[in-house]
Amino acid sequence: MREPLVAGNWKMHGNRATNRALLDAIVAGVGQGVETAVCVPFPFLAQAAERLAGTGVAWGAQNVSEHAQGAFTGEVSAAMLAEFGCRYVIVGHSERRSLYGETDEVVAAKFGAAQAAGMTPILCVGETLAEREAGRTEDVVARQLDAVLRKRAPEAVAVLAYEPVWAIGTGRTATPEQAQAIHALLRKRLTGGARILYGGSVKPQNAAALFAMPDVDGGLIGGASLVAEDFLAIARAASAALAGAG
Ligand code: PEP
Repeated sequence: MREPLVAGNWKMHGNRATNRALLDAIVAGVGQGVETAVCVPFPFLAQAAERLAGTGVAWGAQNVSEHAQGAFTGEVSAAMLAEFGCRYVIVGHSERRSLYGETDEVVAAKFGAAQAAGMTPILCVGETLAEREAGRTEDVVARQLDAVLRKRAPEAVAVLAYEPVWAIGTGRTATPEQAQAIHALLRKRLTGGARILYGGSVKPQNAAALFAMPDVDGGLIGGASLVAEDFLAIARAASAALAGAG
């Protein structure tokens, strides 16, 4: 049985005071039967590490350079993130792909860099609305995943996030059946132990139905991860789904 993972993607939000309150509330409310993590902006990694060390809540980053070191102004290497105790690094988020031009090949290189530094990449894949409407969803997510699998063995992908772009930050969620269909397809390319998270407007109200699907192993949570009670309610839904499945 795969332990579910509920990971927050804070994106470019927060300040030291709001972070403190959010981290305190998460630590106070987190339960058993689910792994939780928060992926915070780079400047707040030290704060997250200090507050979360020894609590069972993991922390990570939202991006990483594909380069090891050198003249790459503004970039942050995987070794630097590892020094801050990051367990996870999100790679290939759709905002990175669409706003910063990250190609499948760049994402695959970032994946490799994170893993070589001992962290677990959370590899994001997902189709746009136009791609879904054109019937290209399966091709797109397979292409995005295969860019990594050309360089890495399937067992290297421990955490994958299916995030339909049309569902991110829009309030429009994939139905549990839509998510399950794509997760099942992705799982065929991976090993049984891989955790496949769903992301895209997950809220306390829809989390239980999504997590009840057999191939949905938790969530990558954007907006709702900034509200402690919502994030915790989503984590509880993941834990309850595991208990229900067992
Ligand atoms: C995300 O940013 O990965 C995400 C899923 O955002 P939201 O939950 O806000 O749709």
